[in-house]
Amino acid sequence: MSTPRHRPPLAEQVEELLATDGPLPIVAAGDPVLRRPAEPFDGQLDPALLARFVAALRRTMHAAPGVGLAAPQVGVALRIAVVEDPAPVPEEVRRARGRTPQPFRVLVNPGYEPVGEARAAFFEGCLSVPGWQAVVARPARVRLTGSDEHGRAVDEVFSGWPARIVQHETDHLDGVLYVDRAEPRSLSSNQAVAERWNQPTPEEAARALGFDLPKRVPSPK
Ligand code: ZN
Repeated sequence: MSTPRHRPPLAEQVEELLATDGPLPIVAAGDPVLRRPAEPFDGQLDPALLARFVAALRRTMHAAPGVGLAAPQVGVALRIAVVEDPAPVPEEVRRARGRTPQPFRVLVNPGYEPVGEARAAFFEGCLSVPGWQAVVARPARVRLTGSDEHGRAVDEVFSGWPARIVQHETDHLDGVLYVDRAEPRSLSSNQAVAERWNQPTPEEAARALGFDLPKRVPSPK
């Protein structure tokens, strides 16, 4: 099939996506939309359409289920993402990973920069790379800037699991998938993670699969 020469304007594309009320289809790795930097949001969707689109992203994230979803993952090349993590994990896991609950929020035109030197490495997965997980070492704390869906400025420091989520989602808007940053030897099927690597930290996996973890940096209390 030939590639259409003209892509529909974004608003038209989003209207078409929202023609049904269900979760939106999620685009899988291999689609170029996941590899292009998304367009900064600058009113391409009017406020009502933006609100409907955000609601659809949230619905899709819940249905998956996932803790974040970026617009390119439903084929829309705009710098918009949603995150929400009720963090239903055992206390031991919560402490090791800093997985504190993250309320629903919308990231519009987000960017991040590391705060400090500490890095944290954990298994991570992506709705666009179904069936697999891998260990990604990321800055443990980041400063996120951008705005929310109402155009209000955001400038906030994230740590723990929420820092990982906002980095993962912002990376999507730059055409970056977590596998680009992952330790290749850690690649594990969801089943292997469930059966073998569900410890709070990936230390056993690192020993058994043969990959390095960043040196422990004492976390500020
Ligand atoms: Zn993802």
